[in-house]
Amino acid sequence: MEYLSRRTLLATTAAAGIATGLSSLSAQAAEGLPQPQRPGHGGNDPGPRNVAIDRQNPDILVPPATDSGTLPNLAFSFSNAHVRVGTGGWTRQVTNRELPISMTVAGVDMRLNAGGIREMHWHKAAEWSYMLYGKARITAMDFDGKLFVEDVGVGDLWYFPPGVPHSIQGLEGDGCEFLLVFDDGGFDENNTFLLSDWIKHTPPEVLAKNFGMPASVFAKVPAPEDLYIFASAPPKPLSQENPRGVPTIPGKFSHRLLAQKPVAAGNSGSVRIADSSIFPASKTIAAAYVEVSPGAMREMHWHPNNDEWQYYIEGQGRMTVFAAQGQARTFDYRAGDVGYVPFATGHYIENTGTTPLRFLEIFKSDYYADVSFNQWLAVSPPELVKAHLNVDQAVIDGLRTTKTPIVPA
Ligand code: MN
Ligand code: MN
Repeated sequence: MEYLSRRTLLATTAAAGIATGLSSLSAQAAEGLPQPQRPGHGGNDPGPRNVAIDRQNPDILVPPATDSGTLPNLAFSFSNAHVRVGTGGWTRQVTNRELPISMTVAGVDMRLNAGGIREMHWHKAAEWSYMLYGKARITAMDFDGKLFVEDVGVGDLWYFPPGVPHSIQGLEGDGCEFLLVFDDGGFDENNTFLLSDWIKHTPPEVLAKNFGMPASVFAKVPAPEDLYIFASAPPKPLSQENPRGVPTIPGKFSHRLLAQKPVAAGNSGSVRIADSSIFPASKTIAAAYVEVSPGAMREMHWHPNNDEWQYYIEGQGRMTVFAAQGQARTFDYRAGDVGYVPFATGHYIENTGTTPLRFLEIFKSDYYADVSFNQWLAVSPPELVKAHLNVDQAVIDGLRTTKTPIVPA
């Protein structure tokens, strides 16, 4: 409630028109523009400003009074990322070049039109993915030469270990869009081992010897820059994709995350967790899919295993990260944004919108774990807690001994 009233205050101070004598400021006030001020602090912003960005980031423009100290940037929007376009779709990445603190994980947002193919390739990092839209066909081969070929839709995951060769293709209808997560913050999607690239950089007589065919059969292989993401016809039905009848590994590299029963559910939201205990292939990425109802909040907590990389799927929210030594900083997020939480720092995520907030928590880890602030106080000896907080027994009794990942509005 404090938060909402502060926002109302911002609007009314702006609407009241801070006396300035400058027409541009009068115009700003008349439009109810947010200003970097709260009672007794700050001022308006008469100079150049990007109002669209200011409006989207009320907790950056007017931080909560509890924010303090110097924390690095913990937010970057895919909307600010360079887009690489191909004939079959497009891709963009948020790595530690865009968001320098994100050393554990890099993300890629990729669109494949119907039939569009992400060229057959492999890479050094492991690849985890969440399907955001439409349907895709994914293929891979494991180290025993077994074929993995499967169709995935919204809410499905895949995980390809380092070095496993794979491909992705948009299916008929409207293709697909998905989030890729790599377990290396310095990953670069432009640095993958491409099928066409290796062909182009191998002496023809070596190609001939390797495949036992004349080198001329490879004369029409396109240049790598013409593939990577290229247009093609949608694939045949899944049942026709293994005409030689090679051994297959159904389900090995995929997982239906949204089909999982949530570990926490109710009016306030829900959490689904997928780590290697439930999706064995995913040895280096643990993830949670979180839904938070309007006004509700992912409770105050921290993680004991690694940094948290976030991707916001829907809605809007804010997060304050507490980094010890009196340091805390608040950020605003909305669909398409990346958030980051350094290892072990305390945080919450509050839905500040009027629609559900949906986001992914991603960890470079084989297990998911979090520590609840509320539960810690509830299970600790009451006299010990009272001695710290100067509270009475009624407060102790009101703490929750069971973890409540999402707390009500
Ligand atoms: Mn890949
Ligand atoms: Mn968290």
